[in-house]
Amino acid sequence: MSVKALKGFKDIVPGEVETWQFIEQTARDIFRRFDFAEIKVPILEKTKLFIRSIGETTDIVEKEMYTFADRNGSSLTMRPEGTAPVLRAYIENGLHAKKAVQKLYTIGPMFRHERPQKGRLRQFHQMSVEVLGSDLPRVDAEIMAMAWLILKELGLTASLEINSLGCKKCRPGFNAALLDFLNQTEDLCDDCLRRRETNPLRVLDCKSANCQKQYENAPSILDHLCDGCQDHFKAVEEGLEVLAVPYKVNSFMVRGLDYYTRTTFELVTDAIGAQSAIGAGGRYDGLVKQLGGPDVPGIGFAMGIERLVLLLDQQEDRPKPVPDLFVVALGESAQKKGFAITHAARQAGLTVTMDHQDRSLKNQMKQAGRAAASFALIIGEDELANGQAVLRNMDNREQTDVAIVDDVKAWAGEIVSKIG
Ligand code: ATP
Ligand code: MG
Repeated sequence: MSVKALKGFKDIVPGEVETWQFIEQTARDIFRRFDFAEIKVPILEKTKLFIRSIGETTDIVEKEMYTFADRNGSSLTMRPEGTAPVLRAYIENGLHAKKAVQKLYTIGPMFRHERPQKGRLRQFHQMSVEVLGSDLPRVDAEIMAMAWLILKELGLTASLEINSLGCKKCRPGFNAALLDFLNQTEDLCDDCLRRRETNPLRVLDCKSANCQKQYENAPSILDHLCDGCQDHFKAVEEGLEVLAVPYKVNSFMVRGLDYYTRTTFELVTDAIGAQSAIGAGGRYDGLVKQLGGPDVPGIGFAMGIERLVLLLDQQEDRPKPVPDLFVVALGESAQKKGFAITHAARQAGLTVTMDHQDRSLKNQMKQAGRAAASFALIIGEDELANGQAVLRNMDNREQTDVAIVDDVKAWAGEIVSKIG
């Protein structure tokens, strides 16, 4: 019996991977234009990093983390999200001292033990950014504009929903009002009854239609913001207007992590069924300090790559990479020449492939056709005897001779110039 991959863990094979590369390249290019630097952080961290940042009573910490004891007995967790590890690295490497405002991005796998379904995996991938060191509302607008531009340059559209969760000054007042409301609401699901006691804000996230219907009458956090948070939120909206980024205010969006303060946002679409959030983020002023670092504000977002792939796959097929040249060689000495010119042409910048099964000339030409190579370089016994290889344009079937010379670099140069 062959060993299969774990449930919720997926291979990304050739034919699919091109879409992934397109997404990553598009995003990396935009990160560069916005002057963000890449940071790579480990996949394994101490469990307490996530408990302290994401929060003890969140879904992620309560039931989704891949947590286990390593051989020394210490509790480790496969990162469920990127913000906590990046902040740990920011603090540990003293990045705050190197630049007053750090703009960082990272791309990689995350792990959550959820029920696998379309757009929901146990190993999934995120592109995420963090801006540390500024609480200006302009920064909030800037990163939302960046997320929006990524979607735009991928050829996708989604709607941007924004909210403010207030700060430690005004949130308690809202929590009290919400609790009041919840205590007068009769028909809550078990999850919400539990959350009412542990983390009332979280009820607004409930997926039950019955609960959601009742929450239509719940108090709005936007009515409870202190002056500072109100001004900040207003300025974020103004920033989005300056950049002409369309958005919608959704006062019920609360996000599933405890560390958020003030601005939160989500990019949502109705094109991939139930898994509607393609990206989300928010401000987390106070989190760096809480993790033992300096008192600097921060904001970030993460986009789920699988969901972007689902959206892009609904569009036309991505062009697959094809070789520039297929080297067709028959007989031992011709193959030696072919092997050498293959390597030289690769060094000259061409994508080159060659038969690795010692098949007939006819079969090799077939392989070149199947690979959709632009040109074939044919070296049979006759060609070798004449000292002239045949360069065949696979589209229009035109052929020219290229002299076989001992200097493979010069030979490759000749081929490059003929291929254009
Ligand atoms: P959801 O409401 O769909 O569970 P979330 O609020 O848990 O999303 P975040 O923690 O904010 O998601 O992560 C940011 C993005 O990562 C999401 O918008 C989504 O695109 C993606 N994502 C989250 N969990 C998964 C998963 N299990 N599989 C695939 N993508 C995911
Ligand atoms: Mg989730």
